[in-house]
Amino acid sequence: MRSMADFDLTGRVALVTGASRGLGRHFAGVLAQAGASVVLAARDESRLAEAAAEIGKTAGKIVALPLDVTDGKSVRQCFSAAEAALGPVDILVNNAGIAVSKPLLEHSEEDWDRVLDTNLKGAWLMSREAASRWIALRRRGRIVNISSLLALRTIRNVPSYTAAKAGLDHLTRTLAVELARFGVTVNAIAPGYVETDMNRGFLQSETGRALIARIPTGRVGAPEDLDGALLLLASDAGAYLNGVVLPVDGGHAVSVV
Ligand code: NDP
Repeated sequence: MRSMADFDLTGRVALVTGASRGLGRHFAGVLAQAGASVVLAARDESRLAEAAAEIGKTAGKIVALPLDVTDGKSVRQCFSAAEAALGPVDILVNNAGIAVSKPLLEHSEEDWDRVLDTNLKGAWLMSREAASRWIALRRRGRIVNISSLLALRTIRNVPSYTAAKAGLDHLTRTLAVELARFGVTVNAIAPGYVETDMNRGFLQSETGRALIARIPTGRVGAPEDLDGALLLLASDAGAYLNGVVLPVDGGHAVSVV
């Protein structure tokens, strides 16, 4: 029988991309509280150092490493540095993401590439690097991709974001099928709206407020609302979950209003 101890991450090493702020920073803290040693990775090194110092006050081994998920060389260097600092990574959280909010006709080729490169290619580069190391070392692994409600339902003005996140969902399923025989599970969380730097302006606008009124629970999510799903997919408690995209959105994705 499984027990609460299966949620314990003591002895595991987790790497969270986009951990300099927002949800990634929060996820890094949650994994650290569950016992994992955690690598916080992103481009803004000063914000990363601040986040790592804060999390390190109450948790074990925390390391901050520079990473640009769109750059294969940076991805390889980050994994090598993580391994040198804490040992092989066991849990990869592909959280780094950006959004460009512009109507289709104003969306430039550069906007499209930047969003797809960060939200989809970045997760693929990170997952490929993690998988190659797990297979070579014969180690099991966990990948948790941070998708979005907007991969399941859509709105105007974010064509690159919705396409990237929908691609990420199917990449999740494809990698789940391909990597299962190596003891690797690949799942995704599809959060509904959670107020962060990415969407604060939008959520405070008239359109944003109207959207919040349509969430069945009547509120946006808090980062803490994602903790249970994260720990389930990152730990032994979720050992037989594979290829799942789990909405955590207060019922927003299943609502027709
Ligand atoms: P934020 O804008 O607050 O944070 C985004 C993070 O991604 C930052 O830490 C940023 O760090 C990092 N990042 C961006 N580009 C890169 C890059 N090229 N390489 C490495 N890191 C990068 O966003 P949120 O916390 O809101 O979003 C986190 C994830 O959750 C995203 O994938 C988003 O799509 C998803 N999500 C968010 C929702 C929400 O309501 N907030 C809802 C559904 C999904 P830096 O700039 O230092 O590199």
